[in-house]
Amino acid sequence: CAEESVSEAIPRYVRVNTLVVSVDEVLENLQIDGWKVKTCNASNFATTFKSLGKRDVLRDPHVDDLLVFPTKTDLHAHPLVASGGFVLQDKASCLPAFVLAPKPGEIAFDACAAPGNKTSHMAALMENKGKIYACDLSDNRINTLHSTMKTTGTTIARVAQGDFLGVEPSEAKFANLKYIIVDPPCSGSGIAKRADFLSKERKSVDRNRLNKLHNLQVMLLRHAFKFPGVERIVYSTCSIHEEENEDVVAEMLGTDDIYNNFQLVDPLSSWTHRGNDRYDFGDKVLRADPATDLTNGFFVALFARRTD
Ligand code: SAM
Repeated sequence: CAEESVSEAIPRYVRVNTLVVSVDEVLENLQIDGWKVKTCNASNFATTFKSLGKRDVLRDPHVDDLLVFPTKTDLHAHPLVASGGFVLQDKASCLPAFVLAPKPGEIAFDACAAPGNKTSHMAALMENKGKIYACDLSDNRINTLHSTMKTTGTTIARVAQGDFLGVEPSEAKFANLKYIIVDPPCSGSGIAKRADFLSKERKSVDRNRLNKLHNLQVMLLRHAFKFPGVERIVYSTCSIHEEENEDVVAEMLGTDDIYNNFQLVDPLSSWTHRGNDRYDFGDKVLRADPATDLTNGFFVALFARRTD
């Protein structure tokens, strides 16, 4: 059916967790196992992927440490999944931590962290040096977050169950906090397996629910700007709806306090798929979808403190 054809066209992505194993070591072992390693550049990614043979693996041209396997490759039983060396994570969901680019030794916050894929990605980029505050409202999901930290060898996360809106930005421990990811609850309408990704379903979107999500997303993102030393904030969703994406960003830029101190910066120049050009900042935010980017539907905005 059409629904299957959307999700089945998406490659199998594996983020190599460099806290456990190096990319070079992984590639060496894959070659011993009979895989052929291919490379490409950002402009011919889709065509290169489509020409892959069953035992070809591609190094992703946009996101470091990401490998691209042919559609339907089943890696769940690979020993590196159990040991935390492979994180089975869609490419689009790797963008937030990658474009945030937190440096080793710094302090970061993952505001809506569970199950913890982006927290563990940040920890890998920070080489497990520094500190990541990781909070989530859900009791159940906090357990998953703890176990993701354990499996991935993430030692710098301080996990806490709670409401990000209840975190006090003026606490002394946050004075030097530089990086925040806000990946809030969203409709999940970009997940290719979900029916509402299909255009025929879009018409029946529950506007009331979208409105409530929008309000929560605005509150959570607005809170991130209150941390006195924060320099870079990533906002992301796996939604295709403007209400949860460009509209949330527009509301931030419409707030004097935020606009005077922060600006949108291009998160990834090699990524050509941009936000809706109905917004004057549309070319500064990223969108991703199965047809153009071979990923789930996704949205990413990167705010940086003004230096001028
Ligand atoms: N960033 C996660 C990852 O990459 O693994 C996925 C986060 S998921 C899209 C959104 C999360 O926000 C859910 O786990 C939910 O429990 C949490 N959440 C909802 N409201 C929250 C709040 N007020 N404060 C903190 N977390 C919240």
